[in-house]
Amino acid sequence: MVVATHNRGKLAEFQRLLAGVPVELLTLDDVGVAAELPEPGTTYEENARAKAEAARDLTGLPALADDSGIEAIGLGGWPGPHSARWLGEGAGDRDRLLGLLDEVARRSPDDRRARYVAAVALARPGADTEVAAGECSGVLVTPRGQGGFGYDPAFLSDDLGVTFGEAPAEAKDGVSHRARALRKLRI
Ligand code: IMP
Repeated sequence: MVVATHNRGKLAEFQRLLAGVPVELLTLDDVGVAAELPEPGTTYEENARAKAEAARDLTGLPALADDSGIEAIGLGGWPGPHSARWLGEGAGDRDRLLGLLDEVARRSPDDRRARYVAAVALARPGADTEVAAGECSGVLVTPRGQGGFGYDPAFLSDDLGVTFGEAPAEAKDGVSHRARALRKLRI
């Protein structure tokens, strides 16, 4: 099965989440697809479906894709589906994390709540695509911990009481938006 991502952090999560399933996961790079897959939609579900179906059509393999983001409640859900790119192509994970904390400190200092949202899609050759969504809630804090990826060190999980940067990977997997979405699919 191909996972429609170039993001190693996401692949590692999918590998852990599907550890009990007898399937080999390949990335786009493993199957020779260097291009970013288009995200033509305005919702996580549309983009997850589009990426999974594009990866299936390019490779002929069953394909799994997610589209996800972090939503600051006090900023009306921003950056949401724009989480990966809102600071421009040259920016890295750390720049975006610090940039989001700056925006919250400036525009919503009294409401630091946030949620992660994910839609996961499974596109198999000759079958209807399945899509499921999941979310988890937390608070944005000064970064703590080296684990996870992306915004994780700044996301203090309501479920765990520590940031996703501090939490062991297995603890994040028990409560994460991606895990909750994936559990609803029949892989
Ligand atoms: P996507 O590849 O378009 O789904 O981008 C998702 C964006 O949200 C990236 O910037 C990620 O860093 C961020 N994101 C999504 N899920 C997570 C997570 O579990 N931890 C940290 N950042 C995440």
